[in-house]
Amino acid sequence: MRRLPMLIDGKPVTTARTFTSSNPYTGDDWAEVPDGTPSDVDDAVRAARSAFEGDWARTTGFARAALLRRLAHLITEEADTLARLEVNDSGKLYREMRGQMRSLASWYDYFAGVADKLEGRQIPTPNPDFLVYTRRIPVGVVAAITPWNSPLLLLSWKLAPALAAGCTVVVKPSEHAPVSTLAFADLFARAGFPPGVVNVVTGRSRETGAALAAHPGVDKVAFTGSTETGRAVARAAAEHLNATTLELGGKSAQVVFPDADLVAAANGLVAGVFAAAGQTCMAGSRLIVHADVHDELVRLVAERAAAIRLGDPYADDTEMGPIANVPQYEKIRALLRTAEADSATIAAGGSPADDLGGFFIRPTVVTELGPDATLWRAEVFGPVLAVARFTSEDEAVTLANDSPYGLAAAVWTKEVHRAHRVAARLRAGTVWINAYRTVAPNVPFGGFGLSGIGRENGMDAVDAYLETSSVWVELTGGTRDPFVLG
Ligand code: NAD
Repeated sequence: MRRLPMLIDGKPVTTARTFTSSNPYTGDDWAEVPDGTPSDVDDAVRAARSAFEGDWARTTGFARAALLRRLAHLITEEADTLARLEVNDSGKLYREMRGQMRSLASWYDYFAGVADKLEGRQIPTPNPDFLVYTRRIPVGVVAAITPWNSPLLLLSWKLAPALAAGCTVVVKPSEHAPVSTLAFADLFARAGFPPGVVNVVTGRSRETGAALAAHPGVDKVAFTGSTETGRAVARAAAEHLNATTLELGGKSAQVVFPDADLVAAANGLVAGVFAAAGQTCMAGSRLIVHADVHDELVRLVAERAAAIRLGDPYADDTEMGPIANVPQYEKIRALLRTAEADSATIAAGGSPADDLGGFFIRPTVVTELGPDATLWRAEVFGPVLAVARFTSEDEAVTLANDSPYGLAAAVWTKEVHRAHRVAARLRAGTVWINAYRTVAPNVPFGGFGLSGIGRENGMDAVDAYLETSSVWVELTGGTRDPFVLG
């Protein structure tokens, strides 16, 4: 059994009570991690505050850039090890996680390039006796709370811009997949970050995250997780009038027009909803397809879904691993049971694959769903594609936008005018045209509506970790009428 400590103020911290992380493929408890309490959260926030007010405050953007680049280098060296930890924690494919961990360094490299370019402005004023300039100031201590589905990638979307901006951070990974984040914490001292700049607290209870989100010593909360928890986080942050970045759930639509390359669209649908067993926030889980090509596209996707190889996440030819944890597996099964009550048709899958051991759900395609059907409306966070048909462009757009979420969407068509016209009408933070499931450090990502608040990645992300301070400089040395606003 592997044992890992938390990281607080640069020191490894263990607790009397621990909890285990279970491998969803083998069912083995394979790692033991500290069961931190609100008092550990207090210690971590205190360490982050004292680092923020200490030497870190005087660290230049150039120095922060150098540290981030060293960290990127270490991540590249450790990528395969970190990938294994994520596979063991979550059952995701080793070949996907290896690629994801190797790409992680590019987030730190990109934001290293931003750290030394955080410039203020000189602003002309109506009164020529004043010079006004702005300064970009780090917001302070950041709480970064992450989910189990891509722990280090989603953490890096917060950590890289926060550190580039000059913030300090307390990280709270998911109780379902805490191990990779604890191992990752080791790299900060090796890269040369001062103690307390990055702290990691784990806890089995959801109270640990709640204590961090509500902590009076925190200045900003960056959260990825479910919409329901996001609401609780926003309420807690509001108590201190703290800013939040919330990356929440989705029920993203893929709209396919009759002139689309159907083979490419079917491939995009598979990537959108069956990669990572559909356990991605951006899962393209609603297919909205023109009636003329409905049957043909459903056939293509259902055939591919039925052929997807389920099994050992470490095997090179496995295409889908198990569901990451028992609560999620039970949730998906309960949602699949609603298909019958909603008189839907199962075109592929529709059930667990119990013969494989682990928590496998067969890749599922569900058609003939009414607009109020549960599988049409609810986020499944599993390998389930819900299908509806349309006959006009307006109807397609109305169907796509008829969701409280707005994280991502795709348009499949060869007609260039329609591609951009429809993309512009879709209310989603990311719209792909003839593609799905690509992200990059410099491209903003986030959601409309119940999919969240704010954007991660790109310059938008670094802005979220900065305050602006305006400085007025009186140039004449004279005095002015104290009773007049000027
Ligand atoms: P979750 O909301 O259950 O938990 C997320 C994190 O919040 C965990 O670390 C958890 O311990 C912590 N937490 C729990 N209660 C809390 C509270 N009251 N205050 C503060 N923190 C608390 O989500 P999950 O089950 O880990 O992840 C799945 C969800 O995440 C899905 O809904 C999915 O759509 C969403 N997600 C969104 C994105 C995105 O970028 N938009 C990415 C991945 C996952």
